[in-house]
Amino acid sequence: MRFESFSFAPEILRAISECGYEKMTPIQQQAIPAVRRGLDVLASAQTGTGKTAAFALPILQKMVDNPSDTQRSNTRALILTPTRELASQIADNVNDYAKYLDINVATIFGGVKMETQAIKLKRGVDIIIATPGRLLEHLTACNLSLSNVDFLVLDEADRMLDMGFSAEIQKLLQAVNSKRQNMMFSATFSAPVKRLASEMMVKPTIITADKQNTTADTVSQVVYPVEQRRKRELLSELIGKKNWKQVLVFTATRDAADKLEKELNLDGIPTAVVHGEKTQGTRRRSLREFKEGKMRVLVATEVAARGLDIQGLEYVVNYDLPFLAEDYVHRIGRTGRAGKSGVAISFVSREEERTLHDIEKLIGQKLRRVTIPGYEVGSRDVLIKHLQTRRSFAKKQQRSDNVGAQVVGEKNMQGRRVKVKNASPAKIKKIK
Ligand code: AMP
Repeated sequence: MRFESFSFAPEILRAISECGYEKMTPIQQQAIPAVRRGLDVLASAQTGTGKTAAFALPILQKMVDNPSDTQRSNTRALILTPTRELASQIADNVNDYAKYLDINVATIFGGVKMETQAIKLKRGVDIIIATPGRLLEHLTACNLSLSNVDFLVLDEADRMLDMGFSAEIQKLLQAVNSKRQNMMFSATFSAPVKRLASEMMVKPTIITADKQNTTADTVSQVVYPVEQRRKRELLSELIGKKNWKQVLVFTATRDAADKLEKELNLDGIPTAVVHGEKTQGTRRRSLREFKEGKMRVLVATEVAARGLDIQGLEYVVNYDLPFLAEDYVHRIGRTGRAGKSGVAISFVSREEERTLHDIEKLIGQKLRRVTIPGYEVGSRDVLIKHLQTRRSFAKKQQRSDNVGAQVVGEKNMQGRRVKVKNASPAKIKKIK
């Protein structure tokens, strides 16, 4: 179905055409008419399905149909998202769609100065795209009013709840106009997501363009079993040998991301990194350089990469499997977007087999396993022997050191923090 068949304003159609969109994606075909009819919408939408346009285009059209008769200081649409990156990305899209309309858009998120945002808010904004925490700070500081919000969108609702934004969302819900129209988009439908939906929506139109907790058909998924300590070597080899143009790589921790970035750069592979400890400016620059093709690899942790839209990205590598099986779905959704094909490769060490099992259970399919010659995972006996050697070495160390009784965090073989009891002072010092 084409956009022309939904009688959008010529200004909106022109903008859509300049974005290069011709046909609607399935989620757009279902959501656009429902939103235009004024219904609440609850959509199970994976990333990359075109969900931003699915809510933004009908909202813009409704704003054109009913121009606000009051001052512009009345914000009419509020879009809440879990991360800064996602907020910026949605704002880029909305600005593209609203290019020929007299509608202004602001992004509000933490990590940047409150004052600059406050000035903008006080001048008046039609559409706000925000992360819940910072928006609530502005609301508390009386920098804006949400009482005229006609359209409320919760994007990636599952992620916002996972990130602990529940209290902020509840407070914001109390501040927005009770007669508003609600739209909620979520890749997964956990009990808290369903509860929130039932609290804020009236008989929503349920849209399930994609099956819940499944991965897009356009992404081919494969598992490469490999020892943890050989993952970096395998990654460099694959990038070089297979001549991958660009790849997004997920690690389990920030430390692991930083380490991998350094090592890949040493291997001569231009690599950038995004994670929560990097400043907003650094994260933006890394992403821009990757999008511009200056960087071949972008190493990311879960939160930082959430919702990233990188046009035409072909490869996603799970260098470490995610802690939560549901995050696997989000991660690999960075590729295979808007109907294009993509490949998601998971490096799985023996220690991660259990997580892999959880993932396969969640997505309801067994992933294809390919053993790369030269990287075969050693037999269980080899692993046990390795662990025994480590244990007896540790015992000897413990005896020779003056044993303390503290519990400290140490990184295990996958770079994750685990607790170590009775660590010696020498070890404590090393870890700290
Ligand atoms: P989203 O799921 O909203 O993050 O969108 C994923 C990507 O698909 C973005 O790059 C959009 O610009 C693009 N997109 C959205 N709708 C369409 C469409 N109808 N045709 C082609 N590309 C689209």
